[in-house]
Amino acid sequence: MGEYDLICVGGGHVVEDGATLSCDAGHKSLLRARYSERRLELLDCESMFKFYNWLPVDSTLESDTCPTVFRNEGLSKELGLEDLWIGFTGYHPDRGAYASSGTFKELEALPTCARMRDSGRDTILLASAGNTARAFAQTVEGAGLNAIIVVPSTSSERLKVKEDTGRVKLISVNGDYTDAIRISDRISDMGDFVIEGGAKNIARRDGMGTVMLEGAVTMKSLPDYYFQGVGSGTGAISAWEASMRLIDDGRFGNRLPRLHLAQNIPFSPMAKAWREGRRDISDDDLPEGKDYVNEVYADVLTNRTPPYGVAGGVYDAMTACGGAIYEIDNREASAAEKLWMSYEGVKPDPAASVAFASLIKAVEEGDIDTSGKVFLNMTGGGLERAVKELGMESVKTFASVDVGVSDDELEAIIDE
Ligand SMILES: *Cc1c(COP(=O)(O)O)cnc(C)c1O
Repeated sequence: MGEYDLICVGGGHVVEDGATLSCDAGHKSLLRARYSERRLELLDCESMFKFYNWLPVDSTLESDTCPTVFRNEGLSKELGLEDLWIGFTGYHPDRGAYASSGTFKELEALPTCARMRDSGRDTILLASAGNTARAFAQTVEGAGLNAIIVVPSTSSERLKVKEDTGRVKLISVNGDYTDAIRISDRISDMGDFVIEGGAKNIARRDGMGTVMLEGAVTMKSLPDYYFQGVGSGTGAISAWEASMRLIDDGRFGNRLPRLHLAQNIPFSPMAKAWREGRRDISDDDLPEGKDYVNEVYADVLTNRTPPYGVAGGVYDAMTACGGAIYEIDNREASAAEKLWMSYEGVKPDPAASVAFASLIKAVEEGDIDTSGKVFLNMTGGGLERAVKELGMESVKTFASVDVGVSDDELEAIIDE
C-alpha cells in the first residue's frame, strides 16, 4: 500500500493531517507525498493502480485505464528523431489505451476517488466544463461513488459517460464558468463533500505522474526530454516529482528530464513569465478580456491562475529540470494534428496537438539533441471514437439554476 509522509515543500516539515491540501504552518507551498517505498514495485494489474506503491491510496478502483507508451517508427523518421517515445492517455484501442473520458485527467480522477472512498466519504464536488468533469463523472459512475458537478449551461450537454446511472448530480448554471465556480463554492458548505483541489491534491499529481512512471518502465530509463501542453502545469510538476522518485529508486538514471512545455497563444502566461525569469505571473502576461478562450485551439490550456510561483510549482520544476516553454499558435497546432493523424489515425485532444507542435518546433529550431531520448506526452485523444464505439451518453441535467439561486433552493437540490 502507498504509505507516505506528507511534506510541505516550502517548509520541509511533515504535515500531520494526511488529507489536507495546504500547509498547516502557512507556507505558500504545495504539499508532496514522500513514499516509504523507494523502489518502484508494480502490482499485478492492468490499470494505473499497478503503481499503487507510489499513489496515495489504500485501495484501488476497478478500471482499465492506464497510460500507454509506444514508439512510432514512421513518425520518428519524419521528425528526424532517433529515440522518440510517446505516452498516450485516451481512447486508442489499437495501442491498448482505453480511457473513455479521453484524457489524462482520468489518471487524476481515479486515485482521487479511491482516496475519497478510503476516507469513508462518497461524494466529490467540482466545477468544470470540460475534460476534468468528464474524467470524474466517468470515474464515479464506474466506482459506485457520487459527484456533484456544476457546469455553465452552455456545456451541460457535453458531459458524456459510458453509462449514466444517476450517480452524477449535474447542476447547470445559467452563467459562465466563473458563475459555476461560485455556485460550487456555496454548495461546499452544505455537506461533507470532497473538494478535488486541483494541483494541490497529491492524488491528482501522483496520478498524472504515472505517465512518467510508465514511460520510465517501458524505456528502462528516464527520458532526456519531456514534452507536454500545459494550462495549469500540474502535469509538468507531476513529471518532475515522478522523475525525482525514479532517480531515488536508482534503476532509471540520475538526470532529471528537461521539461519542454507548450502553451497556446494568445494565452501563454507561464511562457512569458519563464522567458523573463520571473517567479510571478503578472496581469500583463494575460490576454485582455474574455475572448481569448475562443481564440485558442486548446481552450483547456487557458488557466488564469496556474500553480506557477508557489513552492514546488511550475517555476521550481523548470528551475530544477531546465527546458523551455513554447508558444504555439493555432496554425502550428492544427498542422501537428494532421501529421499525428496521418501516422496514428486517432484524433488528439487539442492540447496534445499543441504539445506535438512544440516537439516539431523544438526539432526545427535545434533546441534538442535529435539522438536524445524524447518522451512526448499525448495527454488526450480518441474521445469521438469512444463516444461512438462505446455508445456514450450525455449525463442528464439534474437541476438548472440561475446565478441568483437562494441557499434554500440549492440545499433542496443537494438533499433531494
Ligand atoms: C488538462 C489538460 C492538459 C493540461 O494539463 P496541466 O498539466 O494541468 O496543465 C493537457 N492536455 C489535456 C488533454 C488536458 O485535459
